[in-house]
Amino acid sequence: MQPSEQPLIEEATLQQRIAELAQEVQRAYPDGLPLCLCVLKGSVFFAADFVRHLGPGAELDFIRARSYHGVHSSGTVALTHTPEIDLKDRPVLILEDIVDTGRSATVILDWVAAQNPASLRLCTLLDKPSRREVDVTPDFTGFTIPDHFVIGYGLDHNERYRALRAIYVLEPISK
Ligand code: 5GP
Ligand code: MG
Repeated sequence: MQPSEQPLIEEATLQQRIAELAQEVQRAYPDGLPLCLCVLKGSVFFAADFVRHLGPGAELDFIRARSYHGVHSSGTVALTHTPEIDLKDRPVLILEDIVDTGRSATVILDWVAAQNPASLRLCTLLDKPSRREVDVTPDFTGFTIPDHFVIGYGLDHNERYRALRAIYVLEPISK
């Protein structure tokens, strides 16, 4: 498998949309910026660019969810890293790279909700609504994409391709 020759989303398009997303989020939080929770590892580049558009007062922490695919289950999700900043009574905004089946986002949203934040919203760079198995609707979405496995800008295939600056579709190697 290899990245498609042409990007699905060009670097300039990504960057422009992330700047707009930050403006949408600023408008949605007139009383003060939310505490941003970057979902490791796929969202690191998105979170880094996004919080710098949000402003110098933006706070950033990290959370990590891993899905385990067993023979009979289609993925149990466990949190393997939780934030250091106390989320109680804080407005929290989750920053996801992609919402696919919705299972990871749901586990993260449920865990954060249990910390009693002042408010809780989900911002995803990419959304694949056609793949949804659990009912979750992001509050802010960068791009809605068709059912392709995508890589780049933090998204990996077996840990590779995260460093690509644009988003590509993973394709079989052509002969
Ligand atoms: P979920 O199915 O729980 O919504 O998504 C779980 C995780 O699967 C995502 O956070 C992401 O790490 C991974 N994932 C889902 N779709 C894609 C994709 O198209 N490309 C890559 N690289 N990872 C994906
Ligand atoms: Mg992810």
